[in-house]
Amino acid sequence: MTAVAVGVLRSAQQYDLRERNCSAILRTAMQRGPIARSELSSLTGMATGTVTRLTSLLCSAGVLRELPAEQEHGVPGRPRTPMVIDDRSFRVAGVHFGLRRTTACLLDLRGRLLAESRLPHRRRGFGPLVAQAVEGIRELIARTPGRVLGIGASTGGWVDREAGLVRDHRVLRWHDVPLRDALSSGLGLPAEVDSSFRSLAMAERWFGGAQEVDDLVSLFVGNVVGAGFVLGGRVFRGSRAAAGSVDHLSVGTPADELCSCGRHDCLHVAASDLAVLARARSAGLISNRGTLEHLIQRARNDDVRADELLIARAELVGTAAGALVDMLDPALVVVSGGVVDAPEYLTAVRRGARAYLRDKRPVDVDSVVRLSAFGTDGVAVSAASVILDRIYTAPSEFVPGLLELRYG
Ligand SMILES: [Zn+2]
Repeated sequence: MTAVAVGVLRSAQQYDLRERNCSAILRTAMQRGPIARSELSSLTGMATGTVTRLTSLLCSAGVLRELPAEQEHGVPGRPRTPMVIDDRSFRVAGVHFGLRRTTACLLDLRGRLLAESRLPHRRRGFGPLVAQAVEGIRELIARTPGRVLGIGASTGGWVDREAGLVRDHRVLRWHDVPLRDALSSGLGLPAEVDSSFRSLAMAERWFGGAQEVDDLVSLFVGNVVGAGFVLGGRVFRGSRAAAGSVDHLSVGTPADELCSCGRHDCLHVAASDLAVLARARSAGLISNRGTLEHLIQRARNDDVRADELLIARAELVGTAAGALVDMLDPALVVVSGGVVDAPEYLTAVRRGARAYLRDKRPVDVDSVVRLSAFGTDGVAVSAASVILDRIYTAPSEFVPGLLELRYG
């Protein structure tokens, strides 16, 4: 190898190392901030000199900032200067494509929601939905100060993040559509895509109720159903990016509806929003255009039949949660989707999980099975977390002031 080639290789290795160290500092500041440099050093295992150099680079790039120095009570010596993620300059966009509407949002770098818009679908099809999303995000960007670093997108179905494609989305009828490139060229911004189930798991780990947890399952039961897994602190995608399909998980109780696989007891036909609404319609509890909110409202107004339908659905969601606990032994199963619209049914979800796990393994279901911390904001926040995760992993690819990481 020539001296020039060795030099290039060394500088690439140094760049990699600096990028990884910056990523570790940002992730630690995100999850533990406000945090002193000395704590950053002990938590990341980096030398204090390295932490000082890189934090000053991250501060001048506008992604980290110092809070005013504070003297710790009763502790002599230099005052502590805590550091936090700088949430003033940069933004990320998120977009989630649902069955009936697209939800677009802007977050700051700490994952806080700054603006959101819900766009009911005017026309179906990939082109019109992407065009509507691009228009919606442009409007949000125009009325929100700050520079947008990128956009994260999510949708149900089979999404291949590496390829940037939605491989298959039966409800939207998308097959092998290039969602990442379409959004990136429409907005002139870097884009990333992932399944909404995985991005929900990622968002719970980043900003939600699972920040201290390395093994977690996010179970979504809405119009579609799916699961996202964080195992050993990393999002698990599977060898074909198709991990997380729980449509055909048997929940034991046969539904009237026949699943596409020929069975009657699959989670999707037994417990999705679409299934519970079809049952409510045939029981005359809601009109043909009635929604889940209407059904929940009836139950809250003491309609026993509406209440029973929602309890039965929640128990089936609990059965699925129990099966996932049995299979993977996660620290948490976070449930989201239509069930979150009525948190009063969490008791029934836990009852279903307890019944499934009885005689199988002793689990404290009350502490393991929880509802998502995001409530109904979950889909938009989680879509944006797809790009936030990339920014925190490889900050120099996104933050203009960090380019010198590569060459410095
Ligand atoms: Zn099935």
